[in-house]
Amino acid sequence: MSSTGDGDNAAPCLALDIGASKIDGAVVSANGTLLQRERLNVRELGNDLLTPIVAMLQQLQKGHEFSYLGVGCAGPMTKGGEEVSPLNIPQWRNFPLRSELEKKTGLTTFVDGDARALALAEGEYGAAKNDTSYISMVVSTGIGGGIVIDGRLLDGETGNSGHVGHINVVPDGNLCSCGARGCLEAEASGWAIEAMTGKSPKDASSETRSRTAELVGRGIGSLCSVLDISNCYVAGSVALGFGDEFFHAATKAARSVARLQYSDHLKIERSGLGDEGPLLGAALVGRRASK
Ligand SMILES: [Zn+2]
Repeated sequence: MSSTGDGDNAAPCLALDIGASKIDGAVVSANGTLLQRERLNVRELGNDLLTPIVAMLQQLQKGHEFSYLGVGCAGPMTKGGEEVSPLNIPQWRNFPLRSELEKKTGLTTFVDGDARALALAEGEYGAAKNDTSYISMVVSTGIGGGIVIDGRLLDGETGNSGHVGHINVVPDGNLCSCGARGCLEAEASGWAIEAMTGKSPKDASSETRSRTAELVGRGIGSLCSVLDISNCYVAGSVALGFGDEFFHAATKAARSVARLQYSDHLKIERSGLGDEGPLLGAALVGRRASK
């Protein structure tokens, strides 16, 4: 099934966002409007996640002609999502996600990391609309991201570029799900905060909040220095829940480690996307790959 040609630009696409706790599907118009939306609660599903996902997609397929299926899924994964092994979806290890979805839906299917998909949406519809280079980041239960330079989302050798949660911020720090110690995700994510304090991030003390902002800021600052990027946009329940104070403190910490002159205007701000962001991102994964 071909996904190129002008005619496809006007057709809606099917979008799928696969997270650890919920799986969302939607019909997305060519201009980025969600026309129809469905959700699965992962906790209510058994070991077989694929069957209910396919049933949801087939429901959304009724009455529409689609150009393609775009998918955002938690990582890591092999290039193009041929095999996914999301750290917090233990049912799937080396799971052949792209080919299974393509076979079951009959639609040309494109898969990328969920945080990378969000970076695409940030540039198209969110706070990075006017930027050609930026870091997009999610500080939530986990920490993920995507890096756009000169208008292009960086892929890297295996398509996993942008895993900002695994930048080292504390030498010999907490053990991370990746196996290393002191990753940003093991020190500043929602699960790390719970593991360290025994409290939900919602109830975090001001000390925990400033430490989290400081570490996120230092991680971002290092990246911004290396990559010559001045704008970083952060989504996710932990960062957004900590509010303005988080963004001020993170920007201050980032500037304290990024001292070269070209980083003078470095800023860390809120994502401009609402809760439709991940689905819009999934749709853009398809648009980007089908070009
Ligand atoms: Zn790690």
